[in-house]
Formats: sequence, C-alpha cells, structure tokens
Amino acid sequence: MTTNPLPHLTPTGTCWCGCAKKTGPGSFFAPGHDKVAEAALLAVEYGSSVAQLLHGHGYGPGHSVSARAVSEGAWRKCGSCDYVGAPASIANHTKKAHSTAATAEQAGGATR
Ligand SMILES: [Zn+2]
Ligand SMILES: [Zn+2]
Repeated sequence: MTTNPLPHLTPTGTCWCGCAKKTGPGSFFAPGHDKVAEAALLAVEYGSSVAQLLHGHGYGPGHSVSARAVSEGAWRKCGSCDYVGAPASIANHTKKAHSTAATAEQAGGATR
C-alpha cells in the first residue's frame, strides 16, 4: 500500500476553518485556526474521539497508525529509541532527549 495521493490545494486568502478571516499569502488558516478546524472536524465526524477517528480509517491497537506513518515515509523513527514522529518532531525530540548538553543540564539542574 502507498500513501493516498492527495489533491493539490491552494490557499484562497480566507481562513479554511470557515471564519472568513483574511489569511496571509500562502496560508490556509489564520494563526491557530488549523487546530480549531481539526478539533471541529473531529467533533462533527467522530464525536471528538480520536479512537473513533482511528477506527474509521482502519487503525487501532492491532494496526498501528504510527508504524504506518513511518513505513510510508511520512514519519521517521528516532535512531536512539522507539520515539516516532514527523521529521521536525524527531529533530526536536533528539535535541531534548539525546543531546549530551541537555542531559548534562538536566543532571545539573536536578541537584537538590
Ligand atoms: Zn479561521
Ligand atoms: Zn529517541
């Protein structure tokens, strides 16, 4: 299986959450409104339940959506632990969890 081909979308200059606010060039949403729209969609279509969302797309405890994201190449797996996430999240995670500087800082800061 491969990733669903997604249609090419073009920002229209007004917020896609439906609030009719003007957006900056190249933006689909006014700041933060992507999260509003995401939550509204989840509420309308899945009773605000992420479990329902996963089930609706054929995912669940026996079919890991995060493993699929990695196998499709949309997400990456941390080289040092089991953390998975988008490339930006991996970079952030690596900096926080595996950087020697952060570890040293944590050790020093934790002294009581
Ligand atoms: Zn909006
Ligand atoms: Zn890691």
